[in-house]
Amino acid sequence: MPRKVYVLDTSAVIAGFVPGLAKAEQVTVQEVLEEAHDLCSKLELETAVAAGKVRIVSPPSQALDEIRKQVTQTGDVVSAVDIKLLALALYLKRAGDEPELVTDDYAIQNLASLFGLPYQRIAMPGIKEVLRWEMVCPACGRRYPPPAHRCEVCGSRLVRKPRR
Ligand SMILES: [Zn+2]
Repeated sequence: MPRKVYVLDTSAVIAGFVPGLAKAEQVTVQEVLEEAHDLCSKLELETAVAAGKVRIVSPPSQALDEIRKQVTQTGDVVSAVDIKLLALALYLKRAGDEPELVTDDYAIQNLASLFGLPYQRIAMPGIKEVLRWEMVCPACGRRYPPPAHRCEVCGSRLVRKPRR
C-alpha cells in the first residue's frame, strides 16, 4: 500500500497544520524551515523535525528540472522554494508514495494540477480549473506568451493575466 505523505509549504506551517497531528508522514524542504525562521511556528516546526515527525527531504535534480521546465511554459510565478516542494511531491509520487501538497498558494496548486499531484488547501478555496497565463500590454493590449516582459511594439512593462 502506498504511504500517504503530506508535503508542507510555508503557508501550511504558518497555518499550524503541523506538527504531528496527522497520522500520515509529513515532509518539507530545508528552505521552509528557514522561511519560517521569524515566525512563531518556527519553534513548533523545529520540535517536530527534531522528534522525527516532519522529515526534511531534498528532491533530486531531475525532478527539479521537470518542474522548472513546466513553470517556464505556464508562466506561473513561483519561488525557488515552491519549485523544490513541487519537485519533492513529484519525486515521492514516482517513488510509489502518495504525496499530497498542503498549501494555500494558487500557483503551487495550479502546477500541482498539471502534474497530477493532489493538494489540500488550508483555508482559501482552491482553484477550480488549471490556469494558463499570458502576458498583456496594459498600454496597447497586445498579448504575449510568457515569459515575455516588455511589449515589443510600445515597450511597456507587461502584466500577467489568466489566459481565456
Ligand atoms: Zn504595447
